[in-house]
Amino acid sequence: MGNRFSAKALGLDVYMTNGSTEVFCDVMALAGSSVARTAWQQNLVLHFCDLVRYALGMGGFDLAEIPWTRDHQAEQDFFIVMLDRAIHRTGWEKLHYTPTADYNLGAFMQMLTTFRASPTTDSYLGDWTIAPKPYLLEMCIWHMVFQGEAGCRLCDPSIQPTDAPFVWEMTSTYTADGTINGETIKRLIWQIPDELIARIHAIVGNPQPRALGMRIEPPHLDPVSTIIGKPLDPYAHHWLGKAVT
Ligand SMILES: [Zn+2]
Repeated sequence: MGNRFSAKALGLDVYMTNGSTEVFCDVMALAGSSVARTAWQQNLVLHFCDLVRYALGMGGFDLAEIPWTRDHQAEQDFFIVMLDRAIHRTGWEKLHYTPTADYNLGAFMQMLTTFRASPTTDSYLGDWTIAPKPYLLEMCIWHMVFQGEAGCRLCDPSIQPTDAPFVWEMTSTYTADGTINGETIKRLIWQIPDELIARIHAIVGNPQPRALGMRIEPPHLDPVSTIIGKPLDPYAHHWLGKAVT
């Protein structure tokens, strides 16, 4: 199972396995995050930052589905520049694996440069002229990649090599209505020194062996807050997890 990227009007497509799609998104996030300036450019980069994080095999799209505007020429030019930066391995020194993405990047470039964009009406991807929320554009300090909705993809141990070095981080997420499913309005991330982890586990219990992290529940907020020396707001959700560095 994988993802199909296409330009149906031209009869072109690029098929990627789920694994290659993850790699494609990693290198596009690295290529675009530090050069995206306009809202449209930032939304394009964020699309790759968050692609297939929750739903494998649902990441493909047709180039005509992208929310092109009247500025489609400049937008397509940026997309080409971003892909070219990926082809030139921009930021690959931050990866803990060697991508074998040359074929996919080349095939995508051929499709993208052949494609003729025109303004899109009602794209399911949303209106990319609207500036993304600031917390989505916060840069990961390790990888210089947008955090996006799901957090930095290069930090995510579930999609990065298992032997990659990691640190512990406390992520505090503030939602508009205080529920976990509410709209996120702010996110704070603190690195937690290794020597404090055993003390935190002594309070909250040990995580399941295969768990990537654990939620810090209300009764434990004060003692854990004391250990890490940071405030843990009762109106936010706090998650202690591993981040690939
Ligand atoms: Zn990161």
